[in-house]
Amino acid sequence: MKINIQEQMNEKLNYCLNCKVKPCSQKGCPLGNDIPAMIQNMKEQNVDKAYEILAQTTVLSGVCGRICPHQKQCQGSCVRGIKSNPVSIGEIEAYVFDKAIEKGESLKNCYPKKQANGKKVAVVGGGPAGLTCSAFLAKEGFEVTIYEKYHYLGGLLVHGIPEFRLSKEIVKKVVHQILELGIKVEYEQELGKNITLKQLEEQYDAVFLSFGANKSSKMGIQGEELEGVLGGNELLEHRLHPNYQGKTVAVIGGGNVAMDCARTVKRLGAKEVKVIYRRAREQMPAEEKEIEDALQEGIEFLYQYNVTKILGNEKVEELEIIQTELVKKEGESRLVPINVKNSEKKIPMDFVIMALGSEPEDFVKELGLELNKWGRIQTNENFETSHPNVYAGGDVAGAKSTVAWAARSGRDVAYKIKEVFTS
Ligand code: SF4
Repeated sequence: MKINIQEQMNEKLNYCLNCKVKPCSQKGCPLGNDIPAMIQNMKEQNVDKAYEILAQTTVLSGVCGRICPHQKQCQGSCVRGIKSNPVSIGEIEAYVFDKAIEKGESLKNCYPKKQANGKKVAVVGGGPAGLTCSAFLAKEGFEVTIYEKYHYLGGLLVHGIPEFRLSKEIVKKVVHQILELGIKVEYEQELGKNITLKQLEEQYDAVFLSFGANKSSKMGIQGEELEGVLGGNELLEHRLHPNYQGKTVAVIGGGNVAMDCARTVKRLGAKEVKVIYRRAREQMPAEEKEIEDALQEGIEFLYQYNVTKILGNEKVEELEIIQTELVKKEGESRLVPINVKNSEKKIPMDFVIMALGSEPEDFVKELGLELNKWGRIQTNENFETSHPNVYAGGDVAGAKSTVAWAARSGRDVAYKIKEVFTS
């Protein structure tokens, strides 16, 4: 029997218990989206209202519904998930966005009109944190200008997440909704190149730095300088892929960037792709769905292996790896991988992709701001930096590295700026 999409969606909506305590919203969602109210309105076929409810806390519903690690966030806290499968919250959120946009609904319609308050804010970087901060400021009557180094907005939503996970068309629609709030954009403007922090501080009442941390971290092992060792972030951002046809590629790391790199490389023709991760599958930070999809696509996983050397004569030829055992250590919240003596082995390899995490680019050191021990911009609990009225959020300030947490930091900064300048 054929079930249409609307019927399938109704089934998903009706599966929600509309819990009074809302653990999905309050515990699970970094943005605190009112999930039960969104679902209830969809049950009553009130898509405009469902979208308006989301718009109170997020401007990225079209994105978050698709790429958030739902199992670790909203769906991970869903009451239904205790005994069975959780409600498909991500899918419902994406559906609400699609249906609302299809009907001509917009963020602009969701917010009451506010008089301009005469205050100007510069936002540096148009990724999830910057876009969210800009939207919540514009909604409150601030004059916002985004300084973006590329000719497009979205940041890692465009160049850090492959098309097969998040379509560029969706990002375009999300960005369009946000810009309709009356935000100005200066494209191809890069801090430290075309503009300085000092200039922005002089021209604006407040500055929000949200340009991300886009440099792939290194391991500090022998052979990292060899030809064929690539940074995961750079590879996704600049799409400077070598020819992988028939090659064996190792991806080191266990997060979503590692999964995205592995799947991208496989699609570009690599013969074998091995993800090497030093802990076990249960500890992998990547979302379960991403791991499953990677497995389905033929990616091989080497769990509990550490990479000790990259070997080769000018270019990568072999990888030396060693087995790890996981031990509990005092003061550590996670199991710590320890190399098992004499368990080294060598495997032939053509390319190595480092996807172990990222750090801010070097120009951050020149901004004159206090940095923390990881080289990120030091902020207090209000995201204030060491310069007055200069705020930082998202990856560059070390916000938990998911899109929803970056967006949360942007929204928190917008609320703080509003409090400072309008109360
Ligand atoms: Fe619905 Fe699950 Fe949230 Fe309860 S916890 S309101 S069942 S989505």
